[in-house]
Amino acid sequence: MDNCIFCQIVAGKIPSEKVYEDDDLFAFKDIHPAAPTHVLVIPKKHIPSLMELKEEDERLAGKILLGVQKVARKLGLQEKGFRVVNNMGEEGGQTVYHIHFHLLGGRHLTWPPG
Ligand code: AMP
Ligand code: ZN
Repeated sequence: MDNCIFCQIVAGKIPSEKVYEDDDLFAFKDIHPAAPTHVLVIPKKHIPSLMELKEEDERLAGKILLGVQKVARKLGLQEKGFRVVNNMGEEGGQTVYHIHFHLLGGRHLTWPPG
């Protein structure tokens, strides 16, 4: 998708601080970190949002969650804990329409979110 900034990050056309990559996934540091560690985990496949995930994406959806786990372990977050967030749609606060999971850690995160 030429007009999608996350597709362009995956393609290397927009620079990013890569944290993890495999055949299906890409993870990189958020440009406006909301916590000491703030990484976005995305599928390379362009899926606009959680609501556009299809039955055929079932394996990929599982891979994303395991990818989040891999990145959390790689960054040493597993002991103290972390948060995984998916913003969906306008009221969910989604601003980039390529599905992504925020991995936040490195400080005590409050609940509920704003
Ligand atoms: P959301 O609001 O859930 O759609 O999250 C989009 C996230 O993408 C925000 O936290 C932005 O800071 C982040 N973001 C936008 N552009 C870039 C970029 N070029 N590199 C890294 N993170 C980005
Ligand atoms: Zn995309």
